[in-house]
Amino acid sequence: IQPIIARREVTTRILQAFHLKADKNLGQNFLVEESVVNRIAKAAELTPEDTVLEIGPGIGTLTQALAMTGASVVSVELDKRLIPVLKETVGAYENVRIVQGDILKVDILKVIEETRALCDNAKSSDHNDVNESDAQEIADDPALTTEGSAACFVNNNKSTAPFKVCANLPYYITTPIIMYLLEQKLPLERLVVMVQKEVAERMIAKPGGRDYGAISVAMQYYTEPKIAFIVKSGSFLPAPKVDSAVLVCKRRTVPPVDVPDEKIFFKVVAAAFSVRRKMLTNSLKNMGGLTSEQVKAWLDRADIDGTRRAETLSLEEFAALARTWEKN
Ligand code: SAM
Repeated sequence: IQPIIARREVTTRILQAFHLKADKNLGQNFLVEESVVNRIAKAAELTPEDTVLEIGPGIGTLTQALAMTGASVVSVELDKRLIPVLKETVGAYENVRIVQGDILKVDILKVIEETRALCDNAKSSDHNDVNESDAQEIADDPALTTEGSAACFVNNNKSTAPFKVCANLPYYITTPIIMYLLEQKLPLERLVVMVQKEVAERMIAKPGGRDYGAISVAMQYYTEPKIAFIVKSGSFLPAPKVDSAVLVCKRRTVPPVDVPDEKIFFKVVAAAFSVRRKMLTNSLKNMGGLTSEQVKAWLDRADIDGTRRAETLSLEEFAALARTWEKN
Protein backbone atom coordinates (compact mmCIF):
# COMPACT_ATOMS: atom_id res chain seq x y z
CA ILE A 1 0.00 0.00 0.00
CA GLN A 2 1.37 3.43 -0.99
CA PRO A 3 1.23 6.20 1.63
CA ILE A 4 -0.97 9.16 0.67
CA ILE A 5 1.47 11.84 -0.56
CA ALA A 6 -0.98 14.75 -0.15
CA ARG A 7 -0.22 15.16 3.54
CA ARG A 8 2.05 17.76 5.03
CA GLU A 9 4.18 15.29 7.02
CA VAL A 10 4.55 12.85 4.09
CA THR A 11 5.48 15.61 1.62
CA THR A 12 8.00 17.06 4.10
CA ARG A 13 9.50 13.61 4.63
CA ILE A 14 9.83 12.98 0.88
CA LEU A 15 11.48 16.37 0.25
CA GLN A 16 13.90 15.77 3.12
CA ALA A 17 14.72 12.23 2.01
CA PHE A 18 15.70 13.53 -1.44
CA HIS A 19 17.39 16.68 -0.07
CA LEU A 20 15.07 18.84 -2.12
CA LYS A 21 13.73 22.35 -1.75
CA ALA A 22 10.76 23.60 -3.77
CA ASP A 23 12.03 25.69 -6.70
CA LYS A 24 10.08 28.97 -6.78
CA ASN A 25 11.23 29.71 -10.33
CA LEU A 26 9.42 26.58 -11.49
CA GLY A 27 6.23 27.46 -9.62
CA GLN A 28 6.65 24.60 -7.16
CA ASN A 29 3.91 24.75 -4.55
CA PHE A 30 3.00 21.24 -3.50
CA LEU A 31 -0.52 20.37 -2.41
CA VAL A 32 -0.65 18.97 1.10
CA GLU A 33 -4.42 18.72 1.58
CA GLU A 34 -5.74 15.28 0.74
CA SER A 35 -9.38 16.37 0.41
CA VAL A 36 -8.41 19.08 -2.12
CA VAL A 37 -6.39 16.63 -4.21
CA ASN A 38 -9.29 14.17 -4.23
CA ARG A 39 -11.75 16.88 -5.28
CA ILE A 40 -9.51 17.92 -8.18
CA ALA A 41 -9.19 14.33 -9.40
CA LYS A 42 -12.95 13.84 -9.01
CA ALA A 43 -13.66 16.97 -11.09
CA ALA A 44 -11.83 15.33 -14.01
CA GLU A 45 -14.57 12.64 -14.09
CA LEU A 46 -12.13 9.89 -14.99
CA THR A 47 -12.93 6.28 -15.76
CA PRO A 48 -10.49 3.43 -16.46
CA GLU A 49 -11.15 3.98 -20.18
CA ASP A 50 -9.83 7.57 -20.05
CA THR A 51 -6.36 8.91 -20.73
CA VAL A 52 -5.37 11.94 -18.68
CA LEU A 53 -2.45 14.31 -19.11
CA GLU A 54 -1.04 15.85 -15.95
CA ILE A 55 1.26 18.87 -16.24
CA GLY A 56 3.83 19.27 -13.47
CA PRO A 57 3.35 16.24 -11.18
CA GLY A 58 5.89 17.57 -8.66
CA ILE A 59 6.43 14.74 -6.19
CA GLY A 60 3.35 12.85 -7.41
CA THR A 61 0.62 14.20 -5.13
CA LEU A 62 -2.16 14.59 -7.69
CA THR A 63 -0.65 11.85 -9.88
CA GLN A 64 -1.45 9.36 -7.16
CA ALA A 65 -5.10 10.43 -6.96
CA LEU A 66 -5.36 10.25 -10.76
CA ALA A 67 -3.75 6.79 -10.77
CA MET A 68 -6.32 5.55 -8.29
CA THR A 69 -9.16 6.29 -10.75
CA GLY A 70 -7.79 3.54 -13.03
CA ALA A 71 -7.35 5.96 -15.96
CA SER A 72 -4.15 5.87 -18.03
CA VAL A 73 -2.08 8.75 -16.68
CA VAL A 74 0.81 10.57 -18.31
CA SER A 75 2.56 13.23 -16.25
CA VAL A 76 5.02 15.67 -17.81
CA GLU A 77 7.51 17.21 -15.38
CA LEU A 78 10.18 19.74 -16.31
CA ASP A 79 12.35 19.46 -13.18
CA LYS A 80 14.85 16.61 -13.65
CA ARG A 81 15.43 16.44 -9.89
CA LEU A 82 11.88 15.18 -9.41
CA ILE A 83 12.10 12.17 -11.75
CA PRO A 84 13.77 9.85 -9.19
CA VAL A 85 11.26 11.06 -6.59
CA LEU A 86 8.34 10.22 -8.89
CA LYS A 87 9.82 6.78 -9.57
CA GLU A 88 9.71 6.17 -5.86
CA THR A 89 6.31 7.72 -5.10
CA VAL A 90 4.19 6.65 -8.09
CA GLY A 91 6.44 4.18 -9.96
CA ALA A 92 4.43 1.24 -8.65
CA TYR A 93 1.24 2.31 -10.45
CA GLU A 94 1.29 0.53 -13.77
CA ASN A 95 -1.21 2.98 -15.26
CA VAL A 96 1.17 5.94 -14.73
CA ARG A 97 3.86 7.11 -17.13
CA ILE A 98 6.27 9.93 -16.29
CA VAL A 99 7.79 12.02 -19.07
CA GLN A 100 10.57 14.49 -18.33
CA GLY A 101 10.25 17.65 -20.40
CA ASP A 102 8.77 21.10 -20.92
CA ILE A 103 5.03 20.83 -21.60
CA LEU A 104 5.35 23.71 -24.10
CA LYS A 105 7.74 21.61 -26.20
CA VAL A 106 6.27 18.15 -25.83
CA ASP A 107 4.43 16.53 -28.73
CA ILE A 108 1.24 16.00 -26.77
CA LEU A 109 -0.55 13.77 -29.26
CA LYS A 110 2.43 11.46 -29.47
CA VAL A 111 2.74 11.26 -25.70
CA ILE A 112 -0.99 10.52 -25.33
CA GLU A 113 -0.93 7.80 -27.96
CA GLU A 114 2.17 6.17 -26.47
CA THR A 115 0.66 6.23 -23.01
CA ARG A 116 -2.61 4.76 -24.18
CA ALA A 117 -0.78 1.94 -25.94
CA LEU A 118 1.58 1.28 -23.02
CA CYS A 119 -1.18 1.27 -20.43
CA ASP A 120 -3.42 -0.98 -22.55
CA ASN A 121 -0.44 -3.27 -22.90
CA ALA A 122 0.26 -3.23 -19.16
CA LYS A 123 -3.41 -3.79 -18.32
CA SER A 124 -3.70 -6.77 -20.66
CA SER A 125 -0.38 -8.43 -19.82
CA ASP A 126 -0.56 -7.36 -16.16
CA HIS A 127 3.12 -6.48 -15.85
CA ASN A 128 5.09 -3.28 -15.63
CA ASP A 129 8.39 -3.75 -17.39
CA VAL A 130 7.93 -1.59 -20.48
CA ASN A 131 10.68 0.91 -21.23
CA GLU A 132 11.07 3.95 -23.50
CA SER A 133 12.11 1.95 -26.57
CA ASP A 134 9.02 -0.23 -26.23
CA ALA A 135 7.03 3.01 -26.06
CA GLN A 136 8.57 4.21 -29.30
CA GLU A 137 7.82 0.94 -31.08
CA ILE A 138 4.25 0.99 -29.90
CA ALA A 139 3.80 4.63 -30.87
CA ASP A 140 5.21 3.99 -34.34
CA ASP A 141 2.76 1.17 -34.98
CA PRO A 142 -0.02 2.64 -37.17
CA ALA A 143 -2.36 -0.17 -36.16
CA LEU A 144 -2.44 1.28 -32.68
CA THR A 145 -3.94 4.66 -33.55
CA THR A 146 -7.69 5.03 -33.24
CA GLU A 147 -9.96 6.61 -35.84
CA GLY A 148 -11.78 9.93 -35.78
CA SER A 149 -13.71 10.32 -32.53
CA ALA A 150 -12.16 13.72 -31.81
CA ALA A 151 -14.30 15.84 -29.53
CA CYS A 152 -13.31 19.40 -30.37
CA PHE A 153 -14.34 21.65 -33.26
CA VAL A 154 -11.95 23.75 -35.41
CA ASN A 155 -10.33 21.83 -38.29
CA ASN A 156 -9.72 18.74 -36.30
CA ASN A 157 -8.39 16.01 -38.51
CA LYS A 158 -6.37 14.30 -35.80
CA SER A 159 -7.13 10.65 -35.29
CA THR A 160 -6.38 10.34 -31.58
CA ALA A 161 -9.32 9.58 -29.30
CA PRO A 162 -10.25 12.33 -26.82
CA PHE A 163 -8.25 12.80 -23.64
CA LYS A 164 -8.48 14.94 -20.51
CA VAL A 165 -6.09 17.26 -18.72
CA CYS A 166 -5.91 17.52 -14.94
CA ALA A 167 -3.20 19.61 -13.31
CA ASN A 168 -2.10 21.93 -10.56
CA LEU A 169 -0.38 24.32 -12.96
CA PRO A 170 2.89 26.18 -12.37
CA TYR A 171 1.58 29.75 -11.96
CA TYR A 172 4.38 31.51 -13.84
CA ILE A 173 3.16 30.02 -17.15
CA THR A 174 -0.53 29.25 -16.58
CA THR A 175 -1.91 31.17 -19.55
CA PRO A 176 0.74 30.04 -22.09
CA ILE A 177 0.11 26.41 -21.11
CA ILE A 178 -3.67 26.68 -21.40
CA MET A 179 -3.48 28.53 -24.73
CA TYR A 180 -0.90 26.02 -26.02
CA LEU A 181 -3.33 23.19 -25.24
CA LEU A 182 -6.36 24.92 -26.73
CA GLU A 183 -4.82 26.41 -29.88
CA GLN A 184 -3.38 23.11 -31.04
CA LYS A 185 -6.88 21.78 -31.80
CA LEU A 186 -6.12 18.68 -29.78
CA PRO A 187 -8.93 16.23 -29.07
CA LEU A 188 -9.09 17.54 -25.53
CA GLU A 189 -12.50 17.03 -24.00
CA ARG A 190 -12.09 18.27 -20.43
CA LEU A 191 -9.57 20.55 -18.78
CA VAL A 192 -9.40 20.66 -14.99
CA VAL A 193 -6.71 23.02 -13.79
CA MET A 194 -5.78 24.78 -10.60
CA VAL A 195 -4.70 28.36 -11.25
CA GLN A 196 -4.42 31.58 -9.26
CA LYS A 197 -7.88 32.74 -8.18
CA GLU A 198 -7.57 36.06 -10.03
CA VAL A 199 -6.59 34.29 -13.25
CA ALA A 200 -9.59 31.97 -12.94
CA GLU A 201 -11.85 34.98 -12.42
CA ARG A 202 -10.50 36.58 -15.60
CA MET A 203 -11.07 33.41 -17.57
CA ILE A 204 -14.75 33.16 -16.64
CA ALA A 205 -15.44 36.95 -16.70
CA LYS A 206 -18.40 38.26 -18.68
CA PRO A 207 -18.38 41.56 -20.63
CA GLY A 208 -18.68 44.79 -18.68
CA GLY A 209 -16.09 44.46 -15.94
CA ARG A 210 -12.37 44.97 -15.40
CA ASP A 211 -11.70 41.22 -15.34
CA TYR A 212 -12.96 40.73 -18.91
CA GLY A 213 -10.15 40.63 -21.47
CA ALA A 214 -8.64 38.75 -24.40
CA ILE A 215 -8.07 35.65 -22.24
CA SER A 216 -11.77 35.58 -21.23
CA VAL A 217 -12.77 35.66 -24.89
CA ALA A 218 -10.30 32.91 -25.84
CA MET A 219 -11.29 30.62 -22.97
CA GLN A 220 -14.99 31.08 -23.58
CA TYR A 221 -14.57 30.62 -27.33
CA TYR A 222 -12.85 27.25 -26.91
CA THR A 223 -14.46 26.00 -23.69
CA GLU A 224 -17.23 26.43 -21.14
CA PRO A 225 -15.13 27.44 -18.10
CA LYS A 226 -16.48 27.29 -14.55
CA ILE A 227 -14.84 27.78 -11.18
CA ALA A 228 -15.44 24.51 -9.31
CA PHE A 229 -14.02 25.62 -5.94
CA ILE A 230 -11.50 27.89 -4.22
CA VAL A 231 -8.36 26.55 -2.55
CA LYS A 232 -6.79 28.52 0.30
CA SER A 233 -3.05 29.18 0.11
CA GLY A 234 -2.53 27.18 3.33
CA SER A 235 -3.24 23.97 1.39
CA PHE A 236 0.19 24.22 -0.26
CA LEU A 237 3.78 23.73 0.80
CA PRO A 238 5.27 26.29 0.55
CA ALA A 239 2.14 28.49 0.74
CA PRO A 240 1.83 30.91 -2.19
CA LYS A 241 0.87 34.55 -1.51
CA VAL A 242 -2.58 34.23 -3.08
CA ASP A 243 -5.51 31.81 -3.07
CA SER A 244 -6.16 29.47 -5.98
CA ALA A 245 -9.17 28.19 -7.86
CA VAL A 246 -9.94 24.97 -9.68
CA LEU A 247 -11.30 25.63 -13.13
CA VAL A 248 -13.33 22.99 -14.91
CA CYS A 249 -13.51 23.65 -18.64
CA LYS A 250 -15.61 21.51 -20.91
CA ARG A 251 -14.20 21.75 -24.41
CA ARG A 252 -16.81 22.94 -26.90
CA THR A 253 -17.67 20.65 -29.78
CA VAL A 254 -18.98 23.56 -31.89
CA PRO A 255 -17.90 27.21 -31.75
CA PRO A 256 -20.24 29.45 -29.72
CA VAL A 257 -20.23 32.11 -32.48
CA ASP A 258 -19.98 32.09 -36.25
CA VAL A 259 -16.34 32.84 -37.11
CA PRO A 260 -15.25 32.01 -40.66
CA ASP A 261 -11.62 32.92 -39.96
CA GLU A 262 -10.42 32.23 -36.43
CA LYS A 263 -7.12 34.06 -36.97
CA ILE A 264 -8.94 37.27 -37.88
CA PHE A 265 -11.25 36.84 -34.89
CA PHE A 266 -8.34 36.67 -32.44
CA LYS A 267 -6.53 39.54 -34.20
CA VAL A 268 -9.62 41.71 -33.74
CA VAL A 269 -9.81 40.74 -30.05
CA ALA A 270 -6.10 41.52 -29.57
CA ALA A 271 -6.38 44.89 -31.35
CA ALA A 272 -9.51 45.88 -29.39
CA PHE A 273 -7.90 45.06 -26.02
CA SER A 274 -4.46 46.43 -26.95
CA VAL A 275 -5.53 49.79 -25.56
CA ARG A 276 -8.48 48.71 -23.46
CA ARG A 277 -9.30 52.18 -22.09
CA LYS A 278 -9.72 53.65 -25.57
CA MET A 279 -12.87 53.63 -27.68
CA LEU A 280 -13.15 51.09 -30.49
CA THR A 281 -12.76 53.89 -33.06
CA ASN A 282 -9.19 54.22 -31.77
CA SER A 283 -8.20 50.73 -30.66
CA LEU A 284 -9.31 49.05 -33.88
CA LYS A 285 -6.86 51.15 -35.87
CA ASN A 286 -4.31 48.64 -34.54
CA MET A 287 -5.83 46.02 -36.80
CA GLY A 288 -3.24 46.56 -39.53
CA GLY A 289 -2.84 50.35 -39.38
CA LEU A 290 -6.34 51.39 -40.47
CA THR A 291 -7.38 55.02 -40.93
CA SER A 292 -10.21 56.55 -38.86
CA GLU A 293 -12.49 56.42 -41.92
CA GLN A 294 -11.77 52.75 -42.51
CA VAL A 295 -12.48 51.90 -38.88
CA LYS A 296 -15.71 53.92 -38.93
CA ALA A 297 -16.93 52.15 -42.07
CA TRP A 298 -16.04 48.78 -40.58
CA LEU A 299 -17.92 49.51 -37.32
CA ASP A 300 -20.95 50.57 -39.40
CA ARG A 301 -20.83 47.28 -41.32
CA ALA A 302 -20.74 45.39 -38.00
CA ASP A 303 -23.45 47.67 -36.56
CA ILE A 304 -21.38 48.46 -33.45
CA ASP A 305 -21.11 51.86 -31.78
CA GLY A 306 -17.52 53.08 -32.06
CA THR A 307 -17.62 54.93 -28.73
CA ARG A 308 -17.77 51.60 -26.89
CA ARG A 309 -14.70 49.94 -25.33
CA ALA A 310 -13.47 46.38 -25.89
CA GLU A 311 -14.45 45.27 -22.40
CA THR A 312 -18.16 45.78 -23.21
CA LEU A 313 -18.18 43.57 -26.34
CA SER A 314 -19.71 40.09 -26.27
CA LEU A 315 -18.20 37.14 -28.16
CA GLU A 316 -20.93 37.59 -30.76
CA GLU A 317 -19.97 41.25 -31.30
CA PHE A 318 -16.29 40.35 -31.72
CA ALA A 319 -17.43 37.70 -34.21
CA ALA A 320 -19.50 40.33 -36.07
CA LEU A 321 -16.38 42.51 -36.34
CA ALA A 322 -14.34 39.55 -37.60
CA ARG A 323 -17.00 38.71 -40.21
CA THR A 324 -17.16 42.27 -41.54
CA TRP A 325 -13.44 43.03 -41.49
CA GLU A 326 -12.02 43.82 -44.92
CA LYS A 327 -8.39 44.30 -45.80
CA ASN A 328 -7.62 48.04 -46.36
N1 SAM B 1 1.24 18.52 -9.01
C1 SAM B 1 2.02 18.89 -7.85
C2 SAM B 1 1.11 19.22 -6.70
O1 SAM B 1 -0.08 19.44 -6.95
O2 SAM B 1 1.57 19.24 -5.58
C3 SAM B 1 2.97 20.05 -8.16
C4 SAM B 1 2.33 21.29 -8.73
S1 SAM B 1 3.42 22.68 -8.80
C5 SAM B 1 2.23 23.97 -8.62
C6 SAM B 1 3.82 22.84 -10.54
C7 SAM B 1 4.75 21.78 -11.11
O3 SAM B 1 4.97 22.08 -12.50
C8 SAM B 1 6.14 21.70 -10.50
O4 SAM B 1 6.46 20.37 -10.20
C9 SAM B 1 7.09 22.24 -11.59
O5 SAM B 1 8.38 21.69 -11.54
C10 SAM B 1 6.34 21.84 -12.83
N2 SAM B 1 6.65 22.64 -14.04
C11 SAM B 1 7.02 23.94 -14.09
N3 SAM B 1 7.17 24.34 -15.38
C12 SAM B 1 6.89 23.27 -16.16
C13 SAM B 1 6.87 23.03 -17.56
N4 SAM B 1 7.17 24.01 -18.43
N5 SAM B 1 6.55 21.81 -18.03
C14 SAM B 1 6.23 20.80 -17.14
N6 SAM B 1 6.23 20.96 -15.80
C15 SAM B 1 6.54 22.17 -15.31
